[in-house]
Amino acid sequence: MRTVFLDRDGVINRSPPNMGYVRKWSEFSFIPNAKKAIRELTENGYRIIVVTNQSGIQRGLYSEESLADIHSRMVTEINKTGGAIDAVYYCPHHPDAGCECRKPKTGMLMRAADEHNIELSNAYLIGDSVTDIQAGQRAGTRTFLVLTGLGQESYHYYINAKSDWRVDENGHRPEKIFTNLYATTRWLIKNERTKSRSP
Ligand SMILES: [Mg+2]
Ligand SMILES: [Zn+2]
Repeated sequence: MRTVFLDRDGVINRSPPNMGYVRKWSEFSFIPNAKKAIRELTENGYRIIVVTNQSGIQRGLYSEESLADIHSRMVTEINKTGGAIDAVYYCPHHPDAGCECRKPKTGMLMRAADEHNIELSNAYLIGDSVTDIQAGQRAGTRTFLVLTGLGQESYHYYINAKSDWRVDENGHRPEKIFTNLYATTRWLIKNERTKSRSP
């Protein structure tokens, strides 16, 4: 079974206006066709794991309980449409905390790989930020950028940064760029054959 790692904000749900933090469920809004994309991935035998930076916790903007509530409601809504999320990993830390989990660090991907027995070279990461793409590249996954959320900015970053060291230490860019999650999953399902989910 192949694994798709999904960033959350800007990929599954819209980035909200107030500094980009979803503090409660009423601020969570699915991007059009995101649930359909997840359903089609599930139907085609992909395992889906969410990896999300949530520094708003350490910033004191919302609690771990609120985040757990948001994620349980998000998964419930996805389940209603026939999609499945195997796990949600989040980094609660402030960028200054120097943790190993906040993307572009690979901690969440490594932990997920360990706990779910994932071969990272066989996995995909879909994100809207440069830091998502960097985390995926450092962990050895294939990487796809979407243009929802911060994706337009990230796209400009890549096209303007031809000789910029920040593109990442190897000058890597995302393997592909898609308009949104649904377009990405359509491409994946059409072009990347995977074994069906076992009964
Ligand atoms: Mg994002
Ligand atoms: Zn962290």
